[in-house]
Amino acid sequence: MEKLNHLKKSDSELAKLVEMETRRQQETLDLIPSENSVSNAVREAVGSRLMNKYSEGYPGKRYYAGNALIDEIELLAIERARNVFHLGKQWHVNVQPYSGSPANMAVYMALLNPGDTIMGMSLPFGGHLTHGWKVNFSGKLYRAVQYEVGRDGFLDYDDIEKLAKKEKPKIIVAGATAYPRMIEFEKFAKIAEAVGAYFMVDMAHIAGLVASGAHPSPFPHADVVTTTTHKTLRGPRGAIIFVNAKSETAKRNGIDIASAIDKAVFPGLQGGPHDNQTAAIAVCLKEAAAPEFKKYGKQIVKNAKALAKELQRLGFELVSGGTDNHLMLIDLTSLGISGKEAQDHLEKVGIVVNRNTVPFDTRSPFDPSGIRLGTPLLTTRGMKEKEMEMVAALIHAALTGGNKHDISKKVKDICRRFVL
Ligand SMILES: *Cc1c(COP(=O)(O)O)cnc(C)c1O
Repeated sequence: MEKLNHLKKSDSELAKLVEMETRRQQETLDLIPSENSVSNAVREAVGSRLMNKYSEGYPGKRYYAGNALIDEIELLAIERARNVFHLGKQWHVNVQPYSGSPANMAVYMALLNPGDTIMGMSLPFGGHLTHGWKVNFSGKLYRAVQYEVGRDGFLDYDDIEKLAKKEKPKIIVAGATAYPRMIEFEKFAKIAEAVGAYFMVDMAHIAGLVASGAHPSPFPHADVVTTTTHKTLRGPRGAIIFVNAKSETAKRNGIDIASAIDKAVFPGLQGGPHDNQTAAIAVCLKEAAAPEFKKYGKQIVKNAKALAKELQRLGFELVSGGTDNHLMLIDLTSLGISGKEAQDHLEKVGIVVNRNTVPFDTRSPFDPSGIRLGTPLLTTRGMKEKEMEMVAALIHAALTGGNKHDISKKVKDICRRFVL
């Protein structure tokens, strides 16, 4: 349990809420695929005095005095980011974006003009809001065209190529929040090349898998790669933009892509960087370069496959018939309950998931037909394939009228054995 000594003394009301949330995290099984649980070292960096500093600008070019050490910290984060993903100096790295959405916004701001065409994955088919969805800035400021998955739940690269040739986007975005399969970056890159578009990969969900070799790397193929640092990468909330300074597309468009992206982050969109967050990113990248992290990333996928297999054996229908990565989508249609009902039933017994649309969903996004499950956090807790089978059984019991008291007790038992 957290100490929170000072907080307890100065603000017991807030301290109590933090303690209760800590306990909630410890006593529930979190299968939300975008969540993770960071190391104590990462949390110490986030809570450090670095948060007191203003350092608008970049290393060596700050608008405030007193930034020599902050420069070192930011340069360390940048160097470690290159190291984790095995990148040469041609990859320019920006670690300042406050989070994933502002990182994507900065890329568009750097490379596009309002009204230009952006092509990304449709949100109800697994894409992210910032890939051109209509209620997001990306769908309002730009002309967004959206690709979907096929009836089998897989990306259909022939369809994506046809759409790209018809719509001539200026940028093609690959990456997803709810796609259980491998993304073939090489095929995307060929399509982008054929239509002269920038190829951007948003690897937010799978960055930790890429770092550990459990998913193919986008870097040999992309002009720009963005990622959050708080999902499978297991760092603080934050984001990184990787820019291929040798991008042929940028050269053809006559722009210095690295400096365009830096300028879009600051002063284009943001003010002072969150230096405490930058430091915590550096810490998480050191952790991600260690051999144990390779094992971790591979175990996430093994666990997802084990969970998927057992869920299927128990009769659940999975979108695309399984998973290649850290997540899966259960289509609940045949079970006769909605995603929201399932989410609520599961939360009552201490299993935390999130409702999600399934491809070609006939229900509304507020109460869709599916739930999304992922294994990053349970894997951080040290669970393996055997525990995934137990988790599948508990999910099945909770959704088919099993005894709530018994299920809750079993959930608590597992949580106690795999301490957070
Ligand atoms: C989570 C996510 C983001 C946005 O990250 P925030 O930090 O929530 O803004 C962007 N793209 C993808 C693919 C994501 O999964």
